[in-house]
Amino acid sequence: MLIDLRDLLAQAVERVDFSYTLDLSELDFFGERPILPDSRVEGYVENRAGVLALKATVACRLSTDCASCGCAVEKDYVPSIDAVLLPDSEESDLDDALFYSGDSFDMDAAAEDAVVLNMDMRILCREDCKGICPRCGKNLNEGPCGCSKPIDPRLEKLKALLQKDE
Ligand SMILES: [Zn+2]
Ligand SMILES: [Zn+2]
Repeated sequence: MLIDLRDLLAQAVERVDFSYTLDLSELDFFGERPILPDSRVEGYVENRAGVLALKATVACRLSTDCASCGCAVEKDYVPSIDAVLLPDSEESDLDDALFYSGDSFDMDAAAEDAVVLNMDMRILCREDCKGICPRCGKNLNEGPCGCSKPIDPRLEKLKALLQKDE
C-alpha cells in the first residue's frame, strides 16, 4: 500500500493511520517460504513539528520446520518499524530514516524490509530446543536417548592414556 502523505505534508491532518493485509508468503529465506499468507500491517505516520514519524508493526505467522529438531513449528513473528520519513531528494545518514518519493510512502516495501532484516536465521520450535541425537536420531525434547549414557570406564582409561602422549 502506498500511504498518501499529502494531508500530512500540508499539515491538514496530524496523523494518518493504516491497517491492511499484505501477502508476504512469497518471500524466500534460504530456499524456504516460512511466512503464511495474510500478514497484517498496522501503524501510523505522524507529523511531529514538521518531522514525519512512522510507527508500524507487521504481524506475520510463520510455519516451518525447527532448525534444530526438524519438527513442525508455527508461531507469530511481529517485527516493528520506528522511523523518520524523509523525501528521497534528501540525504541522511540517520539509521532510522526511510524515504518517500513524491508525496507517498511505499509501506509494502518498508514492511518487507523489516520482515527480512529481523528474521531469525534459525527458527526453533522453542528457545531451548535440544535437537536430535546425532547418533540415534531421537528427538531429545522427548527425553534422553541411550547414547548419552556415561562412557565405558575402559574407554575412559584409554582416552586418558592417549591424552598423556600428547
Ligand atoms: Zn526443535
Ligand atoms: Zn542417541
